[in-house]
Amino acid sequence: MNDLITNLEALSNAAGISGNEGDVRQVIRPLIENSVDDIQVDALGNLIAYKAGTGTSELRVLITAHMDEVGLMVVGHNSDGTLKVDTVGGIPARLLPGLTVYVGAERISGVIGLEAIHRANRTSKAPDVSKLAVDIGANGQSEAQEIAPLGAPVVFATQFKALEQSCLGKAFDDRAGCAILINILRGEPLPCDIYGAFTVQEEVGLRGARVAAYAVAPDVGITLEGTLADDLPKPPDDADVSPTTELGKGPAITVMDRSYTTPPRLLQHVIQTAEDEAIPFQIKQPGIGGTDAGGVHQARAGVPAITVAVPCRYIHSPVSMLRVDDLRYTAALVGAAIRRLTQDTLSIT
Ligand SMILES: [Zn+2]
Repeated sequence: MNDLITNLEALSNAAGISGNEGDVRQVIRPLIENSVDDIQVDALGNLIAYKAGTGTSELRVLITAHMDEVGLMVVGHNSDGTLKVDTVGGIPARLLPGLTVYVGAERISGVIGLEAIHRANRTSKAPDVSKLAVDIGANGQSEAQEIAPLGAPVVFATQFKALEQSCLGKAFDDRAGCAILINILRGEPLPCDIYGAFTVQEEVGLRGARVAAYAVAPDVGITLEGTLADDLPKPPDDADVSPTTELGKGPAITVMDRSYTTPPRLLQHVIQTAEDEAIPFQIKQPGIGGTDAGGVHQARAGVPAITVAVPCRYIHSPVSMLRVDDLRYTAALVGAAIRRLTQDTLSIT
């Protein structure tokens, strides 16, 4: 299980904005290639690993975890040598000024320009991303074009840290899911055939999961996520608002989000599994966000799907926080739920 943290560290430090997931693929492949029966990379960049089951179940299970993270992309070059950027996926622009970043495949260091505090009266409003510039120290436009061409990805320069019972790092949405999927693929074979899809472009519209689910044609889809935990202290007038998920309370099971609803039997199956195996769990408060399950459940003639997630504070920001126990329990719950899966679990009443 310590592998989970070591692998999460390598995954978190890798750069992979939507559509540029190559670094993350390169971290994953060597970690699984001796434990699975086949690995394919499709035309969009999904890495799909096949691990044969023990043969006691005929079911084909697709487990997805997305490789991409939110970030920025170079979209122009200013005459002073700074870079124009746009966001890839949802990032609040107010977070950006002053952050250090890595630009392009060579991981050139840069900083998102910030007006001096001496002019703070001009910067009281959240900036528009189109007004921000990434400064890589280039001396003029042509040098900037050479170092950081159009389309170069820009990621937060955050280094992973393992704390006592928690981890701090970037892109836990969804490198936490990737770490768990790696863990499952490296484990003992399960009763069913497992297709582990490390997907691309989730943050810009669940794109990789759609084509991966079409190709695999599974009987059921399980999406592993790092999801929003907003369990921070609230102002008194907000006190009755339930957090979406909370750190340290176990895997968050989705009943419904903006992209899909979980079929009642499948939901009950996962909850029952957690109760029987004494694994703590929480129900994610419905209505927020979308997940790869939204892409998977509409593949072909329809696939029953569910999302199980590790609660992470501060997702879609330069640094997130998760609890190691939540990570471990999520891996345990998904493994146990798959072992107990039957055709009946997937039938519609
Ligand atoms: Zn995600």
